[in-house]
Amino acid sequence: MLSYQAARAKVIEVICARHCAPPPPTETIEFADEPARVLGRIVAEEVRADRNYPPFNRSTRDGFALRAADAAQAGAKLRLIGESRAGVPFEGVVEPGTCVQIMTGAPLPRGANSIVMNEYARIEGEYVVMLEAAREGAHFVLEGQETRIGESVIARGTRLSYAELAIAGQVGRSQLVVAKKPRVAILSTGDELVDVDQSPKRYQIRNSNNVSLAAQVSLSGGEPMMLGIAPDNLAELRAQIELALDADIVALTGGVSVGKYDLVEQVLREMGAEFFFDSVAIRPGKPAVFGFCGDKPVFGLPGNPVSTMVTCELFVVPAIELLSGHKPHPLKLLKAKLAHPLNEKPPLAHFLPARVSWPEGEPVVEAIHWEGSGDIGSVVKGNCFLVVHAEKQVYSAGEMADVLPRRGLF
Ligand code: AMP
Ligand code: MG
Repeated sequence: MLSYQAARAKVIEVICARHCAPPPPTETIEFADEPARVLGRIVAEEVRADRNYPPFNRSTRDGFALRAADAAQAGAKLRLIGESRAGVPFEGVVEPGTCVQIMTGAPLPRGANSIVMNEYARIEGEYVVMLEAAREGAHFVLEGQETRIGESVIARGTRLSYAELAIAGQVGRSQLVVAKKPRVAILSTGDELVDVDQSPKRYQIRNSNNVSLAAQVSLSGGEPMMLGIAPDNLAELRAQIELALDADIVALTGGVSVGKYDLVEQVLREMGAEFFFDSVAIRPGKPAVFGFCGDKPVFGLPGNPVSTMVTCELFVVPAIELLSGHKPHPLKLLKAKLAHPLNEKPPLAHFLPARVSWPEGEPVVEAIHWEGSGDIGSVVKGNCFLVVHAEKQVYSAGEMADVLPRRGLF
């Protein structure tokens, strides 16, 4: 049985081999009125500076622009000949023995090579006394010092967050070419399932997995395609999976254990799927299945809701990221100090519902009591999963442990 690391690496390896050579399809999105339209998307072009940044020698302080040699010592007294403010430059030249009042963001006047801050200067009539020595190059940024014209400011493959959108705005871009979102078909299987807006009979269960999966797909940059519920019967299951294969990725839940009515793997096999794993050494989520049906990656996730969440994060999310032009990366785990000892059973790795908090500034993690992989409420009480690796299952309180943050929370 593969470790979760090996299984995740397998997903990445197989998808890269089959999908990453031609770059993903792209679309151009206009976002000036509504930046949220491109937030989180992956850029599919190299965005370049349209001019030098800053476009002129820009003051970074309120103060006085001068020739540094004129105030080599504190106490120099220079004649004030004008001002330069943001948007309205001083047009003259700073000659020896003179200075110009300057504001943050204003162009440094010609002749000047230093700025003395307001706090270290005193105006006396037509003169300014510098209370400290000026330093050449102080308190301004030279034209082009941040970015040269034509230089890349956002690399292809970058996920767009607010800083990327700010720089796109700075270089005059109100539209960007981004990778299309991969469509992820979401289909839950099980005769006990009813839609969430139905009143279940006592022995029925509302289909919460489609909801959590769709949310995880959206949060990781995919476009969920909601296909509802398939019953535990070969013909109907096959018909629904055939519809699902219209998407770029298929995520099925339920029906992958070894019960009499766990038919997903059988149906996929009959449809000619090739499997890369059908179990992973984790709890929750052990019966997770990954294969290809034709040219589409297909995931069979165990139906217990917490298993579905964990296996989606571990295996489906990397597929979504790769198909949207994101580069592969290791699972992003954080470290936090354990609030209590741990003693899990080998040989599986565990993903326990847990909560990270920062009581004294440092992250501390605490597992949440749970009744196993059907217990969604335990996940809701937390904000992460505590990762107990197969290699080390016994921890004392105060040891550092790995934490998988719940997507979208931090
Ligand atoms: P299965 O993986 O089909 O054996 O299902 C395992 C458990 O998860 C059973 O208790 C199911 O009722 C429950 N389950 C399966 N699918 C869903 C779903 N879509 N939403 C909520 N619970 C589910
Ligand atoms: Mg089932």
